[in-house]
Amino acid sequence: MNASNDRNGPQSSAEDRTHFGFRTVEREQKAGMVRAVFDGVAENYDLMNDLMSVGIHRLWKSALLDWLNPRPGDHLLDVAGGTGDIAERYLERTAERGGGARVSVCDINEAMIVVGRDRAIDRGRLQGIDWLCGNAEALPVASASVDAYTIAFGIRNVTDIPAALREARRVLKPGGRFLCLEFSQVILPGLKAAYDAYSFQILPALGEIVAGDREAYQYLAESIRKFPDQDTFAAMIAEAGLDQVKIRNLSGGIAALHSAWRI
Ligand code: SAM
Repeated sequence: MNASNDRNGPQSSAEDRTHFGFRTVEREQKAGMVRAVFDGVAENYDLMNDLMSVGIHRLWKSALLDWLNPRPGDHLLDVAGGTGDIAERYLERTAERGGGARVSVCDINEAMIVVGRDRAIDRGRLQGIDWLCGNAEALPVASASVDAYTIAFGIRNVTDIPAALREARRVLKPGGRFLCLEFSQVILPGLKAAYDAYSFQILPALGEIVAGDREAYQYLAESIRKFPDQDTFAAMIAEAGLDQVKIRNLSGGIAALHSAWRI
């Protein structure tokens, strides 16, 4: 019996439950289940990203950096930063503009951070980056302390998305920028059937062959379908107190960028 059953009798209430892909689970279970998914794929995560998106995730991440337009000297907090892909690109961009920028990568999963930190060290990247283990819903970061907040393919995995968005606003300095890259809802009718077939047939098979983990990639496909559409997510960002929310669709809405500011 879990804590909610202790409180509420044998049936937990709707508020105590959430989704994990297409399954309904107790809210308190979800973070551990998500952690187990990324524990399982950490070693192969970057290879799988390239394979499953045929490298397109690189273009989407470049689009995020283009829109962010980072300034030398800024401090970026990259939440759900995983193996540090956004952080690496951010430091490359700011180096081209004179350097001096800092990035803190925060992720709930230590296995992902370890892979990222080792890779950064192997590439000689020892300056300008620090690694934090923490939950997007309760960031281990001071209020009004960062110039930009990014989250790429992370918010979909968070149990309490409104809490994570409120945390984004809290840690941003006034004038700070919020940018989220996430899978979204396909807006081109002709693309949907092919994308569904790819997601539910090819993707889990690829996960099994390359990462030895079919379920992790089945979860990926399901969690994308459960994530709010572009406009609904934009409204959630505004609800958290961020301003000037704007959307850019990528690849026909397979992914989308949401930009906002803390005024
Ligand atoms: N941002 C990286 C990228 O784009 O390559 C990694 C994305 S990966 C799909 C999702 C990441 O979100 C994982 O590293 C996972 O551990 C992290 N994550 C999931 N739930 C989280 C939470 N509540 N707080 C912080 N990180 C979380």
